[in-house]
Amino acid sequence: MIPFNKAVYLPRALEYVAEVVKSSKIAGDGKYTKLCSAWMEQHFHAPKVLMTTSCTAALEMTAILLDIQPGDEVIMPSYTFVSTANAFVLRGAKCVFVDIRPDTMNIDEKLIEEAISEKTKAIVVVHYAGVGCEMDTIMDISRKYNIPVVEDAAQGVMATYKGKALGTIGDFGCYSFHETKNYTMGEGGALVINNEDYLERAEIIREKGTNRSKFYRGEIDKYTWVDIGSSFLPSEFNVSYLYGQLLMADEINNNRIKSWRFYFESLKKYEEEGIIELPVVPSECTHNAHMFYLKWRNVEQRSEFIDYMKEKKISCVFHYVPLHSSFGGEKYGKFTGIDRYTTVESNRLVRLPMYYALEKEELRYIFDTITEWVEKI
Ligand SMILES: *Cc1c(COP(=O)(O)O)cnc(C)c1O
Repeated sequence: MIPFNKAVYLPRALEYVAEVVKSSKIAGDGKYTKLCSAWMEQHFHAPKVLMTTSCTAALEMTAILLDIQPGDEVIMPSYTFVSTANAFVLRGAKCVFVDIRPDTMNIDEKLIEEAISEKTKAIVVVHYAGVGCEMDTIMDISRKYNIPVVEDAAQGVMATYKGKALGTIGDFGCYSFHETKNYTMGEGGALVINNEDYLERAEIIREKGTNRSKFYRGEIDKYTWVDIGSSFLPSEFNVSYLYGQLLMADEINNNRIKSWRFYFESLKKYEEEGIIELPVVPSECTHNAHMFYLKWRNVEQRSEFIDYMKEKKISCVFHYVPLHSSFGGEKYGKFTGIDRYTTVESNRLVRLPMYYALEKEELRYIFDTITEWVEKI
């Protein structure tokens, strides 16, 4: 079976993890946490990166930092992972779902302004498939209405918009290092703080509401409870597993891009024949080959395709059930405007296997199998 995803595994990871085990410094904020945050700050030109236990945790931290209160509204796409919404719903917010663009599957920046109300406290954008949203327009709206922007850049590590790393453009960026993402530590993430007004409080919230980070830096002589907070910091086991991948970030990225290009180039003829649609990457964006998706005519054709591929031992998957049509979405959110693309486009989309070190023969076999299927329909 060709799996849909395989976590990056580098033999060197064992050395770093073993060092942590032997050092007995296994809690959070040790050597590898510092190395990973410093690496990202330097390579992404990010003012501050705080490692977290997940992207979900990083999103939850932004909701606390933005002081989201019951009744507040948060604008976001409906076509996203549940954590984008839940992080804010946990603080009592209502999700205001906006339609997506059919080309990138990202929030339609032209529809955001209409969704703003007196109660809007944040705009959360999702860089789907590691392809950036139209950030210039989104940041203009943010400045015009003085509403902060959170980038859910879970899928966007190592991708850029107009030369800027995704996650470093809004007030906050949230990365995921989950097993299914380009770089992984099992479960993990990071919060990028671009608006330095939030920096001091972010450290406190991440450290159970205490000023322990200041204490460790020797800035105060004892640490105490100063604010609300939780435990958002990952253990050194996880972070040390990630570190080796960051050192090889370009190589991992290039390898994925190569597989992505193979899919794109070989499937282009079916797009030209009007059989499928392929992803669009706007010229402002460099992507990170987080995923390769294509779109069939409708949900029935997609299901038949997934079944056919499964028979041929290739795992292809779809996502997301749009949040506004889920139980949680109906309870905690509302769709504004017309659902022109969210439901229709999400029903057509399927993801092909994509991971680091996907082999040439595997890619060939996947393409040949798609060709067999195309000849049948
Ligand atoms: C994976 C993902 C998340 C959640 O990441 P975790 O690290 O598992 O919490 C959130 N948003 C998007 C868009 C994702 O793809």
